[in-house]
Amino acid sequence: MATLRLGTAAFPSSALAVKCLEEKVMPIATINPATGETLQTFEELSAQQLGQKLQLAADTFRSYRTTSFAERSELLQQAAALLETDKSRFARLMTIEMGKPIKGAISEVEKCALVCRYYAENAARQLADQVVETNATRSYIRFHPLGPVLAVMPWNFPFWQVFRFAAPALMAGNVGLLKHASNVPQCALAIEEVFQRAGFPNGAFQTLLIGSALVEQVLTDARVAAATLTGSEPAGRSVASIAGKQIKKTVLELGGSDPFIVMPSANLEEAVKTAVKARTINSGQSCIAAKRFIVDAAIYTEFEKRFVEHMQALKVGDPMQEATDIGPLATEQILKDVADQVQTSVAAGALVLTGGQRLKRTGNFYEPTVLTNIPADSPASCEEIFGPVAMLFRVRGINEAIALGNNTSFGLGAAAWTNDSAEQERFSNELEAGSVFINGMVASDPRLPFGGIKNSGYGRELGEFGIREFVNIKTVWIK
Ligand code: NAP
Repeated sequence: MATLRLGTAAFPSSALAVKCLEEKVMPIATINPATGETLQTFEELSAQQLGQKLQLAADTFRSYRTTSFAERSELLQQAAALLETDKSRFARLMTIEMGKPIKGAISEVEKCALVCRYYAENAARQLADQVVETNATRSYIRFHPLGPVLAVMPWNFPFWQVFRFAAPALMAGNVGLLKHASNVPQCALAIEEVFQRAGFPNGAFQTLLIGSALVEQVLTDARVAAATLTGSEPAGRSVASIAGKQIKKTVLELGGSDPFIVMPSANLEEAVKTAVKARTINSGQSCIAAKRFIVDAAIYTEFEKRFVEHMQALKVGDPMQEATDIGPLATEQILKDVADQVQTSVAAGALVLTGGQRLKRTGNFYEPTVLTNIPADSPASCEEIFGPVAMLFRVRGINEAIALGNNTSFGLGAAAWTNDSAEQERFSNELEAGSVFINGMVASDPRLPFGGIKNSGYGRELGEFGIREFVNIKTVWIK
């Protein structure tokens, strides 16, 4: 267990924060983004502690891999029950550590219970032997676990991102090693506690309190079999290249700049309401948040008017309040990045229809913002903005809409609103993304595969494809 030090006690946390900033290393700490207060700091694992944890993972895997689906399923059902019983505590932890509005935090914990139940109920079927007729007397495909899998995870959905990796990985017979984002250490420890209390063997799921500089050491360790990373493109490139040299399997879930296209036949009010929700969910800090709103010229003016009105009506404030729609951004750095991206885009010619400023109050609050008239090479056009900032684009017809929708280096999700079935077919076929939602907003669902193409990553989580990522798909041929 890592040594835990309280905020201003023996080790002044603000000094730690400054030191880490100078060294460009994130402190492992709980800093409430609504108040700026450092609540707790944590020491990184020592080399010896880290080695012990990796050994425990390897030892546990040897026995855990022999457990039956029924045994694993019972443990995961128990984890689901614990999540539900303690959902208020877990939700508050998320809100305190990364500012998620509390109602979204509660739903997130409930969704984690759902993904546990989904895999507890379906893994045995999804990983059952598959008989294939060949020239053998009997030939079949059998799925074996790979071993300890390292999960490098982001802070924006601190529970959901971890559970959607852990539930299928554990059901497949792997063991998990979590390197969570440095600003959500208490969430990371709480998740480890859930699996321990559920009865999983000690070592089946461990949290490693380490900074990103130690990821290479863990990934190159022979005891670690594979890795999954959810996070930014640079982090993905780094982990993929290290794993590549080691010839270890990776799954990458990276950023996105999802288009949300609205055509004249759409139900406009429904589209506007959903568009605002799709942009501002999790205070705008979601990989699959709609970021570029591409609207046909025939309805553009009306869409813009209503969209701005709905954005202005959002309640920004204390994330602990049920009525709050938008909380603080998770860190001071994210707020600065968003403000810089908006400012640079405006300097290049973008127009601010509403917002565009940091709120003058304590905490990392940024106004819900709408930009239009966006120059092609400005940050608003080609980068992911991780905050409540929407970009509106006017196009003429479906060809322009698809071309602009695809004009990004990312390919995570895409939404298109139209009641014309020929257009629905074209959007489904021609939008370059891991998922296309027609007349809805992109969302993850335990039953459906989730992931991206292009610079949004590769591999899939969730559904049947998700559980097959970290298994040896073994061919058995018997004559
Ligand atoms: P991030 O800075 O890349 O951090 C994500 C995780 O990677 C953290 O645990 C971080 O550790 C670690 N990390 C950072 N740089 C690393 C490196 N060079 N080598 C190894 N590990 C490294 O991303 P974030 O700001 O937390 O999250 C936001 C990004 O995640 C956005 O781009 C968002 O779109 C993406 N995301 C994608 C999905 C998806 O499913 N596709 C879901 C959610 C978020 P430290 O905290 O210690 O730096």
